[in-house]
Amino acid sequence: MSADAPLTALVALLVLAAAALLAQPWWAGRRRERWRRQPFPPAWSRILERRVPLATRLPAPLQQRLRQLTQIFVAEKPFIGCDGQAIDDEVRVTIAAQACLLLLGQPGDVCFPQLRQVLVYPRPFVVPRKQWLPGGVLDEARQALAGESWGQGQVILAWSEVRADAPADGRNVVLHEFAHQIDQDGGAADGRPWRADAATRQRFAAVMDAAFARLQDEASSALDPYGATSPAEYFAVASEAFFERPQALAAEAPQVYEELARLYRLDPARW
Ligand SMILES: [Zn+2]
Repeated sequence: MSADAPLTALVALLVLAAAALLAQPWWAGRRRERWRRQPFPPAWSRILERRVPLATRLPAPLQQRLRQLTQIFVAEKPFIGCDGQAIDDEVRVTIAAQACLLLLGQPGDVCFPQLRQVLVYPRPFVVPRKQWLPGGVLDEARQALAGESWGQGQVILAWSEVRADAPADGRNVVLHEFAHQIDQDGGAADGRPWRADAATRQRFAAVMDAAFARLQDEASSALDPYGATSPAEYFAVASEAFFERPQALAAEAPQVYEELARLYRLDPARW
């Protein structure tokens, strides 16, 4: 064997690995094309009618788009049942379709690229929470949550809360947690989803910061008061209202509505 043989083998391996990496998006594109061409199962349409009423009010092209994105989401993202929660099409389609409302206006087939899995509990799940109390005391409390979004590509939801979401009341736990995922696409959840252009980033931040400060003083609002706890929560809560009570948000905070319309590339007040 020549002295160069190991080197040649290494180069060949590297070339193969690079080719496999380059082929990945191509394969993913082909797979998605196949899923997109599959008819949307009638049983799934009935789930949308039952569980995602907004989906049936969308303009026809967006209804079609939502079905395609839902198929891609269900095919690509693993759902994991925790604490005895069964995972069936009712769970998958209800969660996927609501999450994909946030993606309806985006070009291409971008489908929460960072998201690795969705964990579903039957009921609100209890997590330990540390918080500093006045006087520098560290308090460790246990808190029951309806949902949570992690930076490492994980969303956790309580199915009882997802099922109980009333339409058009401005609250929606799936929209809330997946809005956090969109925020976390650009790094930490800070209420600043990634935008390519610096001027757009500045304008978005100025509008959202002012509205966040206003919500802290407001006695009543179209937004869940939980949005006043941090800029990240403000963004998630405003996103819920943007889809669930768009007219009310546009009337109360027109600039916030405008910024979210630009971000999501959608105008739900017209639906
Ligand atoms: Zn939140």
